[in-house]
Amino acid sequence: MKTFRVEFNAAGHVTSCIELDRVAPDSVTIVYVQATSADAAKAKAEKIRQRIRQRARRAGYRAQGLCPDCGRQPTPGRIKCETCLLSNRISDRARQKSEKLRETRATREQQERLATLLEVRRALDEHGPAFIARWLDEAIEELTGRERSRAA
Ligand SMILES: [Zn+2]
Repeated sequence: MKTFRVEFNAAGHVTSCIELDRVAPDSVTIVYVQATSADAAKAKAEKIRQRIRQRARRAGYRAQGLCPDCGRQPTPGRIKCETCLLSNRISDRARQKSEKLRETRATREQQERLATLLEVRRALDEHGPAFIARWLDEAIEELTGRERSRAA
């Protein structure tokens, strides 16, 4: 099935019929909104466009068997990854404690830190402390471009 954009004039005659390439990454997205000004329309349309893109991204992750929230490997037997499951649990707990959901929700930065901590914890269990020290030094060097003095 293909997608077409069909325009009619006031008399009901087709004035244009354009095939849209929905698969291409630069494909056209058309959003119809009602607004009081062009700026308000653009803002409304942008929110809708983001929602469409997010839905497509989540569907793509889900189709690949990845966590729909972030695209990481899911926890065995679960749909979401360990980071998102924990992050959601933190958010749920915060929601129960406070009405201020938006203020207490785990930030992207907190999520990334949690993902890193979980990754280090798993690696520690699997490979031991000497491997972790080497691994951390290499990761720090990669980010800073600076070599740490290592005791051989
Ligand atoms: Zn996730």
